[in-house]
Amino acid sequence: MDPVLNYIDGAFVAAQSGETLDTVNPATGDVITTLPRSGSVDVEAATSAALRASSKWAATSMAERIQWLHRLADALDEDHETIARLESMDTGKPISLARRVDASRSVANFRFFAEFGEQHEEPTFSDHGAVNHVHRSPIGCVGLITPWNLPLYLLTWKVAPAMLMGNTIVAKPSELTPLTAHHLASVMQRIGLPKGVFNLVHGLGPEVGQAMVEHPQIRGISFTGGTATGKIVAATAAPMFKKISLELGGKNATVVLDDAPLDEIMDDLVRASFTNSGQVCLCGSRILVDSAIYEDFKGRFVEAVGRMVIGDPTEESTTMGTVISKDHQQKVESYIRLGVEEGGKVLIGGTSSEAPVDNVPSEGAFLRPTVLEGLSHTSRTATEEIFGPVVTLHSFDNEDEAVAMANATEYGLAGSVWTKDAKRGHAFGQRLDTGIVWVNTWLNRDLRTPFGGVKQSGVGREGGAWSLNFFSELTNICVLQP
Ligand code: NDP
Repeated sequence: MDPVLNYIDGAFVAAQSGETLDTVNPATGDVITTLPRSGSVDVEAATSAALRASSKWAATSMAERIQWLHRLADALDEDHETIARLESMDTGKPISLARRVDASRSVANFRFFAEFGEQHEEPTFSDHGAVNHVHRSPIGCVGLITPWNLPLYLLTWKVAPAMLMGNTIVAKPSELTPLTAHHLASVMQRIGLPKGVFNLVHGLGPEVGQAMVEHPQIRGISFTGGTATGKIVAATAAPMFKKISLELGGKNATVVLDDAPLDEIMDDLVRASFTNSGQVCLCGSRILVDSAIYEDFKGRFVEAVGRMVIGDPTEESTTMGTVISKDHQQKVESYIRLGVEEGGKVLIGGTSSEAPVDNVPSEGAFLRPTVLEGLSHTSRTATEEIFGPVVTLHSFDNEDEAVAMANATEYGLAGSVWTKDAKRGHAFGQRLDTGIVWVNTWLNRDLRTPFGGVKQSGVGREGGAWSLNFFSELTNICVLQP
């Protein structure tokens, strides 16, 4: 495969230093290609290009920008299968998942914001003999920093509203997964998007991401990634009074109440636990079950997990591929060992040596889905983000105890509640300290709704009007009526 390059001012270029990094297929350990190891000079070049393009792009009408979003959605839709294959190769996720989630959602993000923009009207308020008009301006040049778990999905979730509101962009994907961002840049070039509107700089977080956050003329940063990195981003950006949106880690609870219809929900609970090898910030990694049904639940859940098909991500029948890298595999395994040290019992799965996956390359970062029980809900295993295919089971005796257990973590991104009684689930959901609660469903997303977390899971919301608010500045113009 050709090397991945930076995309600056409408042209593909290497890092000015000429340095490169390798991107590796986590299922085989093979180097797929190289990407630029960029630095602050490349960020400077990208930012200059974005600033040069800024006033012309900001002056285009909303209707014109909506047309660009539709063109991007159309072009990505044409490349649906290519995108799914690139994403699967770069991340180790099953091809079926990459098609269903990554490729489809990338198209949907552009389509959604195009249609949302078409319906959008600014409010006016009249009082004291005057009319107040809310006027929106772009922020200017914005920086978008994204992680490796849902590479194009999360990048396009930010690019679409940023472009819609008239901003120009400097983006940095994770260096572990540069392929689909590179493909997006090639699509931008193919459809003739004005140069400088979208710029892409590849490289390492502390080198490229940090330079973006420090750059005084990148006036807004939308960041999705880990909580530790989010703290660095916040500390760097705050003294410059930059706008920041931080979508960070999670340790989400899946709460199974005593009336949950176990025979109907087991596949959903497996999906909520192990989609993308548990590497979705919204996955439920702690399952809290009413003690009255705990043993019944445990047996059914372990059996359903045992039916998952783990292996070659290119196979249509595979339901779980690899984790992102060998390093991450080791991190996840260290948590499985910690879980056992903390008193947990492995019900299924384990480390790659205890529970090897058959017929896969030894260089592949494969792990079986692992379920642990017997741990305190305050143990490290049950409160720290593992971001892999590991869940812990805990039992509770009443709803108050379940709420206390669910909230006993520093994170507050999402959670789900499972019950026959939707009203009961709704009431329970209001007691969870999280930004998102699903009742009898999981990862059911209406893109108009606010998305984001509380506590250490982030600051701010994205989605629908919240994205438009983040990617614009508001001026209230109060006009006295004659
Ligand atoms: P990281 O925080 O390690 O990285 C996220 C991005 O930040 C990467 O592009 C990374 O670059 C970059 N980065 C690293 N250091 C800096 C820095 N000093 N300044 C600016 N940017 C920097 O997260 P991961 O990629 O490991 O992703 C997994 C995490 O993302 C999990 O914690 C997960 O919960 C979270 N996440 C949150 C979501 C949400 O919506 N709340 C959604 C998806 C994931 P590089 O990779 O090159 O180091």
